[in-house]
Amino acid sequence: MNNQQFQTPIEYLKGIGLSRAEVLKKELQIFNFEDLLKHFPYKYIDRTRFYKIKDIQPDMPYVQVLARITHKEIIGEKHTKRLVAQAKDDTGIIELVWFQGIKWVEKTLIPGKVYVIFGRPGFFNSKAQMAHPEMELYSPAAIKQKGNLTLQPAYNSTKKLEQFTLDSKGLSKLIAGLLEQHAKDIHENLPAYIINRFKLAGRAESYRNIHFPNDANQLKEAQYRLKFEELFLLQLKLLKNKLQRTQKFKGNIFESVGTYFNEFYHHKLPFALTDAQKRVLKEIRLDTQRGVQMNRLLQGDVGSGKTVVALMSMLIAIDNGFQTCIMAPTEILANQHYQTIKSLIGDGFIEVALLTGSVPNKARKVIHEKLEDGSLNILIGTHALIEDKVQYKNLGLVVIDEQHRFGVEQRAKLWRKNIVPPHILVMTATPIPRTLAMTLYGDLDVSVIDELPAGRKPIQTLHFYEAQRLRVFGFMKQEIAKGRQIYLVYPLIQESETLDLKNLMDGTEVMSREFPLPQYRISIVHGKLKAAEKEFEMQRFIKGETQIMVATTVIEVGVNVPNASVMIIENAERFGLSQLHQLRGRVGRGAEQSYCILMSGHKLSSDGRTRLNTMVKTNNGFEIAEIDMQLRGPGNIEGTQQSGVLDLKVADLTTDQEILQQARNCVIEIFDKDPQLALPENQILNQAFQTKNAGLSWDKIS
Ligand code: ADP
Ligand code: MG
Repeated sequence: MNNQQFQTPIEYLKGIGLSRAEVLKKELQIFNFEDLLKHFPYKYIDRTRFYKIKDIQPDMPYVQVLARITHKEIIGEKHTKRLVAQAKDDTGIIELVWFQGIKWVEKTLIPGKVYVIFGRPGFFNSKAQMAHPEMELYSPAAIKQKGNLTLQPAYNSTKKLEQFTLDSKGLSKLIAGLLEQHAKDIHENLPAYIINRFKLAGRAESYRNIHFPNDANQLKEAQYRLKFEELFLLQLKLLKNKLQRTQKFKGNIFESVGTYFNEFYHHKLPFALTDAQKRVLKEIRLDTQRGVQMNRLLQGDVGSGKTVVALMSMLIAIDNGFQTCIMAPTEILANQHYQTIKSLIGDGFIEVALLTGSVPNKARKVIHEKLEDGSLNILIGTHALIEDKVQYKNLGLVVIDEQHRFGVEQRAKLWRKNIVPPHILVMTATPIPRTLAMTLYGDLDVSVIDELPAGRKPIQTLHFYEAQRLRVFGFMKQEIAKGRQIYLVYPLIQESETLDLKNLMDGTEVMSREFPLPQYRISIVHGKLKAAEKEFEMQRFIKGETQIMVATTVIEVGVNVPNASVMIIENAERFGLSQLHQLRGRVGRGAEQSYCILMSGHKLSSDGRTRLNTMVKTNNGFEIAEIDMQLRGPGNIEGTQQSGVLDLKVADLTTDQEILQQARNCVIEIFDKDPQLALPENQILNQAFQTKNAGLSWDKIS
């Protein structure tokens, strides 16, 4: 099939019929030949071997045995009526049971004969049993001819589809038909030299074998080929997009490092940079010298020192006569950046301003003027920064904090601020797994700060059960006596805001009894408070007037209280891993040893237990992100939901990291040698860009 044929509407498939075509569209979103071909089996049933009866284990999904029927009888009355037979091989006996179609089985099942018996085994009184097995009279010839010794595909289906004879078996027949009619037209779409280099199976062969493999090895080869193809074509498109962008957009050139940077580095920076920070600064330095617009994602855990790196990059821009800005997702965060940067650079060094929704008009006007005449060096704010009224004289670098709230659209808006678009540095404290980064941000360059500043004490994380609460209270009192402050966080249960509030209020009541005035003071912050009230409560805590902050997860973003050294998370099992990790990042900001205490009930789901154990075991955000992806699947990781890039049909980002890396490296090599894909051997690759949907939801990315 070429790309065109792949798009043939499903109703044109021979023998399908209009009603079945309709229901396929509705139930499985199978609209054309390609969709059907890519409705891959979700598992395979092993008919490649016969099991001995004694080897059958309770956890086996399906087994096939070769055994002689020794006995059959109908027992029970009415509702309990069933046909029970026994079959025997040289190792043991298995009981076969039918509750339906009894008459027919009674008529056709012949005692004394050997059958191929296939089904899902169960155990009753520790004896092997099978309900409604498939039975077939054994003859060596018949087995060969029917190709029984294969892996049988199992397909996802639905109740509705079953009514149209499209259960797993029916779908299998349909796909077999499609392959029979069209497999010869499935053309190769990768260059021969790639096929050879990676020892890939042919394309048509792979489609056939992924549905109907003769053995495990064939299946493996088919899967490898199709996964490689899928990831390769996606990378081809992502990297072509990047290439085109770099060709289209010139970038400001930050020629030299000048006085601002040097003054800061040698006289103001109060600590030595970590190796990771230096490495990232070098990467940014190189990016901004090439005359090509930088689009870089900077990943690093909370506290890894991203802001400092961003500031130093901005100083280079300023050294070269450009203005810069930092965009944050909330006013609190923007404010925090403003404070941080002010305190790092001190007074009278460069001009920094904060622009948020709450800046009064008069002050706003001054900011606008200073932006236009170029005297303002760094502007910090929320998305108000990209309102059209805001005009810069010469915007050279934009730092965006927390990428997932700024879409492609908003980034594009920024580019329009100048004829030459500013360099863009996106910072995120939510590390995502490498495979995900390569896919989601495959067209960005990615920098990673994977090292915390030296001398920081790792946060100790402990898991306590409800019954140990008194111990936790005792610990809290100890820490408060030492002058520390404590966060206590309740989960948001989205279904019910009233319940959330009730949880919080009940919790607070217990807390105020345990930590009474006047010795103890508590701040309470939750979503129902007005902004001003919230701010007031936060400020009390920030100033140290209260020792405990009881909150729903509103504190997740923003607050920085170095003196707070204990984070207690209630019902921790209800939080996702990345959220737990983010919350933990609120402490460990000062010189003191910090603690994160995870409270949970005794009943934990297996995933819940894994999450809590992971938190106890590691502080590394990247490790946590990997486990999060394994638990939830790549499509459910924070910030990835809307992304069509993850619409992969056969590859799996949690397990196919190596194939992805191979494919990506291969594409990079190709574009290095042949950026236009003009070489004869690469011609075939241009097909990938011809049809809108060559198996990828590309329109959602570009
Ligand atoms: P992030 O933005 O990644 O969360 P910040 O840049 O805000 O991290 O840094 C967190 C804290 O660590 C800040 O107080 C900052 O001044 C400090 N810091 C950053 N880099 C270093 C370093 N190399 N050595 C010591 N402290 C550092
Ligand atoms: Mg920060």
